[in-house]
Amino acid sequence: MKILVLNSGSATQKTSLYEIAAAPPDDPPAPLWEGLIEWQSGFAEICTSSPAGVRLKNRIPIASRKYVTEQLLTDLSTGAAPLLKSPSEIAVVGHRIVHGGGEFREPALVTPRLKDVIRQMSEFAPLHNLPGLEGIQIIEEILGNTPQVAVFDTAFHSTLPEPAAVYPGPYDWVARGIRRYGFHGINHQYCAERAARLLGHDLQSLKLVTCHLGNGCSLAAVRGGRSVDTTMGFTPLEGLMMGTRSGSVDPGILTFLLRQDGLTAEQLDDLLNKKSGLAGISGISNDMREIVSAMKAGNPRAKLAFDIFIHRLTSLIGSMVAVLGGVNALVFTAGIGENSAEVRAAACANLEFLGLRLDPLRNSQPPSDRDVASSDSHVRILIIRAQEDWAIARACWALALASRSV
Ligand code: ADP
Repeated sequence: MKILVLNSGSATQKTSLYEIAAAPPDDPPAPLWEGLIEWQSGFAEICTSSPAGVRLKNRIPIASRKYVTEQLLTDLSTGAAPLLKSPSEIAVVGHRIVHGGGEFREPALVTPRLKDVIRQMSEFAPLHNLPGLEGIQIIEEILGNTPQVAVFDTAFHSTLPEPAAVYPGPYDWVARGIRRYGFHGINHQYCAERAARLLGHDLQSLKLVTCHLGNGCSLAAVRGGRSVDTTMGFTPLEGLMMGTRSGSVDPGILTFLLRQDGLTAEQLDDLLNKKSGLAGISGISNDMREIVSAMKAGNPRAKLAFDIFIHRLTSLIGSMVAVLGGVNALVFTAGIGENSAEVRAAACANLEFLGLRLDPLRNSQPPSDRDVASSDSHVRILIIRAQEDWAIARACWALALASRSV
């Protein structure tokens, strides 16, 4: 079964093609093909590759997003080594949808009603849901009746118990859907399952803290394969310090700024989402690599940014461990989690009281899915590569099998 996966954001659209035959392999395979569109003003940069190397690199004017996506997909069935005889070989198309609200707890076939829900939920996550919905509409136009599946970043956290999900605000917030949803669920779930496999344990028996540290950062407390707490909430702004997002701040600061500076909602949104976090504190960059190198060169604001990041990471990992009542393994994933030995070392040093010990040599070796704890550590420490597209392809395959309608 050939499965196309679209991960549509406001600035980029990542696309992958996977093939799953009788059953998904235990270890994630490389995609047959990957495509990336970077949306720039007036132009789109397109790049596609397969395991054999780069296939297409092009810069084209954006006549429409549909036109650009069509150009990208044409590469699958043209060129010196076409991967498809025709686009109709694609059996199903999976989409990453950030916000599924309270209703969608599992991957679901796209129907007119599901599109309505995605649209409604875009009120909560406009930057994230609308590009996903547009991706679905474009594929409908290009591939006609090919079944499409939405896989939600909120779904894995639908198991949050009420005390973790409900904000202690006025009770009518609950009826209005103002509650904690959590995000990055596709990757938190994938990492929990992968951790169980790497550890050779049944997922049901494990208490895990998964640390998704990329441009956006969130933690999940996973007990028996179910998310029981997470650091992002109503929006992907709550919790840890991030590249350009503040994470949790005293809500009193917001009312203070509204009154004192007369900020509009848009200005406040911009401040918290784009001018804060590593970039806001350091004044240098949202990129952890640049923060670490400036810190090493003696820049005090870069050091402060790094120290706040680690302080908040440590304190929220502690909070997840407390909710779980212990932890068998800590998982680091996504850009910073997979690649920054400095971040892993600093966070783990603060957590040694849990009986957790990082092996400095293993921690400094190049990333792949592996255990970097020392052999005497009471808690395993894993690095797991984020594989959201593969997780979406697997979910599409499972849904196709279950529904037989795909
Ligand atoms: P996204 O959340 O957009 O998917 P990624 O998971 O790709 O982002 O993470 C992006 C971040 O990963 C970058 O901003 C950068 O800070 C960090 N990163 C990537 N490589 C490294 C590295 N070698 N060392 C430290 N940080 C890294």
